[in-house]
Amino acid sequence: MNRNLTARKRIAMIAHDHKKEDIVQWATHNRHTLAKHELYATGTTGRLIEEALDRPVKKLLSGPLGGDQQIGSLIATGDIDIVVFFWDPMEAQPHDPDIKALLRLCAVWNIPMACDRSTADFIITSPFMHEAYEVIITDYSAYLKRNIV
Ligand code: PGA
Repeated sequence: MNRNLTARKRIAMIAHDHKKEDIVQWATHNRHTLAKHELYATGTTGRLIEEALDRPVKKLLSGPLGGDQQIGSLIATGDIDIVVFFWDPMEAQPHDPDIKALLRLCAVWNIPMACDRSTADFIITSPFMHEAYEVIITDYSAYLKRNIV
């Protein structure tokens, strides 16, 4: 079943340590647009964005302690609309499996996801940020009804 997003989007933000400055700069640059939406973030990223924007962010656990998985869980239940995830391509992370799981769930549920600033810029300036939008969800019913012998 498709999902209907309202004009107010629920945006999850995550940045690895070497990308935290980038995400704070990006969020600060886009503070007026972000003010119209609900912000979620992994623990440390959320604290930094909260301080920079001086507004509340729903902070989950720190990524390596389960925050990425919490965001994945919110995606699966239809409670996150957009993900901005500045992951570090130059460094292995202790929670690499969680990162892969999050990327996968974004694909399963057709979530717009920015993994770099230019994609984040394209998403944040989209007219859909200010309108209702119907997200087309793959029909998984055949998968759910498959025969297991
Ligand atoms: P952090 O987590 O915002 O708590 O640092 C980010 C991550 O590494 O997934």
